[in-house]
Amino acid sequence: MIAIVNTKGDAIAQVATEFSPNEIAYFRLIVECIMLAPSESFSLSSIAAIKESANLPSKMTKTEAESTLNAFVSKGWLVKSKRGRYSLSTRSLLELQTYLKTTFEDEVLDCTICMEMVTKGIACSTARCKTRMHMHCYDDYKLKKRRVCPNCQSPWEELRLIPVGEDAVKDGPDSRRRSRRVEREQSMEEEEEEEDEEEMMQPPQEAEEDELMESETPPPAQRNSRQRRATQMSMASQLYDDEAEED
Ligand SMILES: [Zn+2]
Ligand SMILES: [Zn+2]
Repeated sequence: MIAIVNTKGDAIAQVATEFSPNEIAYFRLIVECIMLAPSESFSLSSIAAIKESANLPSKMTKTEAESTLNAFVSKGWLVKSKRGRYSLSTRSLLELQTYLKTTFEDEVLDCTICMEMVTKGIACSTARCKTRMHMHCYDDYKLKKRRVCPNCQSPWEELRLIPVGEDAVKDGPDSRRRSRRVEREQSMEEEEEEEDEEEMMQPPQEAEEDELMESETPPPAQRNSRQRRATQMSMASQLYDDEAEED
C-alpha cells in the first residue's frame, strides 16, 4: 500500500522536475482538489487554491502560494480561466495521464467516443449514466445526426446535457469536495436523503474544517476508507474522533 502511494506521488515529481519538493507537494494537493471538485467541475477557485497551501508540511505565505500557482500556470501545468479558476492543462492531462487514471479511477470518466479522460465537455443528464464526451467529440457525434445517448438511449436535447468542467459551477466559493464515486454510489440508497440534509445544514466553516482534515491524509486509498467510515459514522459522531485517529 505505502509503496503504491509513493509511486503515485513520484509520478508528479518525475515530470514536474523544475519544482522543489514542497512545490510538488502543493501541486499534488491542487491536482487532487481539481480531480475531486464537486459536480465534475474539474476546477478550483483561486481562493481555494491558495487556502490549500495551509495543508503543506512546510507552510507558504499567501504571496508564496500565489507565485507558486503562477509558476504552475506559466510552466504549463495548470490553466487559469478568465473566472480565475484553475484546471489541468493539456500537458498535465497528457503527461500525468497514468497517474490521474489510476489515482482517480472512479472520479473521471472516459469519453464515450475517443476513450480519453473528460475533464471538460458534456455529460448525459440521465442519473448514473456514464456517457461523457469532449466538446469536439460531441460535435462529431451531432454531425452524424445522432440525438440519443449511446449508452442509455435517452433522447438528447442540447439544453439537457450537463457540462463537465468549469461551466459546471457558478462563481463564488467552492462547495465541498465530492466523495469518491464508488462510495457515493454505495451509500446512495441508504443515506441519500440524510446526507443532503446534512450538507444543507452545515455552516461553511464546518465544511472547511472537513476539507482540511481530509487533505491531511494524502494517500487516496486511506482517505477513501476514512471518508467512507466518516459517512457511516455521521449518525454516531461521538465515536468518529476515536476511529479517525486509528488511521
Ligand atoms: Zn473525446
Ligand atoms: Zn445516457
